[in-house]
Amino acid sequence: MTFTRAQGLATRSIHGHGFKDAHGSPHIPIYDTSTFTFETTQDVLDAIEGRKLGSFYTRFGLNPSIFALEETLAGLEGAEMAWVFCSGMAAETALFLTHGRQGIIGIGDAYGGTMELLSSQLPELGIPTRLILGSELDQLDELLAEGAGMVFLETPTNPTLELFDIEAIAERAHAHGAILVVDNTFASPVNQQPLALGADVVVHSATKYLGGHSDLTAGTLMGSKELLGPIWNWRKNLGSMPAPATASLLARSLRTLVVRVRQQNASAQTIAESMEKHQSVRRVYYPGLANFPGHELAKRQMQGFGGMLSIDIEGGGEAATRVADRLKLFALAPSLGGTESLATQPCTTTHHGLPHEERVRRGIEDGLLRLSVGLEETNDLIADLEQALA
Ligand code: PLP
Repeated sequence: MTFTRAQGLATRSIHGHGFKDAHGSPHIPIYDTSTFTFETTQDVLDAIEGRKLGSFYTRFGLNPSIFALEETLAGLEGAEMAWVFCSGMAAETALFLTHGRQGIIGIGDAYGGTMELLSSQLPELGIPTRLILGSELDQLDELLAEGAGMVFLETPTNPTLELFDIEAIAERAHAHGAILVVDNTFASPVNQQPLALGADVVVHSATKYLGGHSDLTAGTLMGSKELLGPIWNWRKNLGSMPAPATASLLARSLRTLVVRVRQQNASAQTIAESMEKHQSVRRVYYPGLANFPGHELAKRQMQGFGGMLSIDIEGGGEAATRVADRLKLFALAPSLGGTESLATQPCTTTHHGLPHEERVRRGIEDGLLRLSVGLEETNDLIADLEQALA
């Protein structure tokens, strides 16, 4: 049976590169080279003038380790095509510079680097941006009518796991001729497929679930040829290409993405239910809990509830710091999506730069501890949380 894009996600993550290695390798070898050689000047011209597509120069992405990876990535989100970048931020920057110049509306909380770009760096370049909270969604149509060309959001958000209705927001953006970009890093393609819900471009920090082992930094954009085509030149000249070895490592990680994430989903659900009953935990933020505000929407638009949860510790910021410092299996680190479980107190890391009042406005309590559930035994992770909370 041959591979087709209609096959399941796990099959696509393994066979989706569409690559036949000349020496019979079943996977994508590392083409550790910056350039490729040609027999004749006519061959060079055929490549440069687009008559013969293939390997050429690594920074352009014209290296088998990179374009085979991109084929797999596109298949994971059901996209026409994908571009890979040396980081999630590099992917976002190229996207904003290509398609955001008319103006960008950011909805809800987003990763700190994204917020920095949207709130200060892009406006410094004359790109108009507006940031609204989930509670201010009634302003969206008015802001769109002012002419912004892009709406950007994460769902679920960091660290309160707020959910946004992708289908409804895509409709509102499209009614005004804007595109919707969804950062799908937290959910991963296993748990959410934004393009199928009407989003136009998906962005990932591949550093997180796609890479999955905290051992690489990369980013990706997935979408239509029409939207991704013009981004190619920005990526090329910003020089934001990952090394072939990183591309190959990412391709290897993708082959286990589905089993990793499904196990992380199951473990996070059990931990969330256990933490909900704990007397030292004020509130648990997890889309898989029946009483979580976004639960019904999560059931509608997600295929799994994810491996990320946050817990609000009784006693506030100082108590949460004490718990964080007493964790033994959960490592203190601001990243997520790896095989090892990580914990971070957002007011001391990801949201440290925001004034206290702004954090409160965003519902980010100082007592909040964000957990990225890894692949250790669930019982060991619960035991670690319990000893730290005791
Ligand atoms: N988007 C989200 C949701 C993130 O959490 C991060 C990083 O933490 C990024 C984007 C940026 O990705 P990177 O660190 O790969 O540049």
